[in-house]
Amino acid sequence: MELKRCDRCGCFYASESNVCCNCQPKDNLEILKLNNYIEKYGNNYSLDELSVSTGISVKNLNRYINENGINISL
Ligand SMILES: [Zn+2]
Repeated sequence: MELKRCDRCGCFYASESNVCCNCQPKDNLEILKLNNYIEKYGNNYSLDELSVSTGISVKNLNRYINENGINISL
């Protein structure tokens, strides 16, 4: 299997997922948080506001939105 570089910590790993196994739980937690936030507040805010409100970096937000098909129009 091809080695991939983790989007979160930059280490190399072999897996089908987008981040290494150390970072996968953090990703899952943030995606959960993001989904809860969107459910509660809709999607009428900028990416920067979303980042500040959720504590998730803009880089990771972009990744979740692109890779997880999160329905948000920013
Ligand atoms: Zn990692």
